[in-house]
Amino acid sequence: YNITMKEMEVLEVLGSGQYGTVRRVYHRPTCVPMALKEIRLELNNQALRQIIMELDVLHKARSPYIVDFYGAFFIESCVYYCMEFMDYGSLDRLYPAGIPEDILGKITLSTVRGLMFLKDELNVIHRDVKPTNILVNKKGEVKLCDFGVSGQLNQSLAKTHVGCQSYMAPERIFDVENSAVGYTIQSDVWSLGLTIIEVATGRYPYDISTNMFEQLNAIVHGDPPKLPESRYSPLACDFVARCLTKLSTVRPAYPELLQHPWLVEVDAKDVDMEDWAARSYGLYLARGGNRQVAPLIK
Ligand code: ADP
Repeated sequence: YNITMKEMEVLEVLGSGQYGTVRRVYHRPTCVPMALKEIRLELNNQALRQIIMELDVLHKARSPYIVDFYGAFFIESCVYYCMEFMDYGSLDRLYPAGIPEDILGKITLSTVRGLMFLKDELNVIHRDVKPTNILVNKKGEVKLCDFGVSGQLNQSLAKTHVGCQSYMAPERIFDVENSAVGYTIQSDVWSLGLTIIEVATGRYPYDISTNMFEQLNAIVHGDPPKLPESRYSPLACDFVARCLTKLSTVRPAYPELLQHPWLVEVDAKDVDMEDWAARSYGLYLARGGNRQVAPLIK
């Protein structure tokens, strides 16, 4: 069954990122609300067809920690990607309220399980772990999206990458040209460590007032950032420190992370994620919510 644009009732814009725009849509034949991501690419039809083919493996990607994939198609030079609608959007909207350790633990556990599922079931490395790629729904479920399943798509996006906050691991930074060759699970684990700190503290952990070169220099040559010891337990801080091991060859992989005493403890706890998600989303709406704010001109 191939999903098409004609079947969609297109609703509001949910957000836009570096590569395109995500809209809420209603899929008429199945009555399922979906999120439709549009990615504009300067590619020929053959390359676009290849992307759609490569995305097809996602039909097998059923996991409670991964945003469901419903299908993809292209129109002119845009790829359209249909996925599960996640009511509350990405973590970056929900963290300014400050995140208690129990909640942070559950978010981390879901993310690690999602990343391990991608690796074990699809042999896929995510390549873009960051707060905007971790989504939350009304049930308080936390799921990953935007993983690098299509080699063709990874290549095209890498060429147009213009991010100003880098979640890239130190070993990745001076190797941008060879990104298809050297990417490992350990690079995702680094990005996970940075993501946990950002979600916990409400801000990206490196100094973004300096230029990009200074930032990358700090990642490669500086000490890795830490979870604030005043607010988080020694176990949580140790977990993050391990993710942010600078030497990639000794950085832990997922089975080891899942056995870390912090996640073992988190797994045994009953945490009301639904209540946290609803309250944080309420605060997000109160701050002005989904309004697209025009950048200030100095
Ligand atoms: P980015 O490049 O920042 O990852 P995306 O283009 O992937 O951005 O998405 C833009 C925004 O749209 C996200 O930050 C998120 O808030 C929202 N969004 C993306 N996917 C979904 C989804 N499946 N359900 C609900 N909101 C989504």
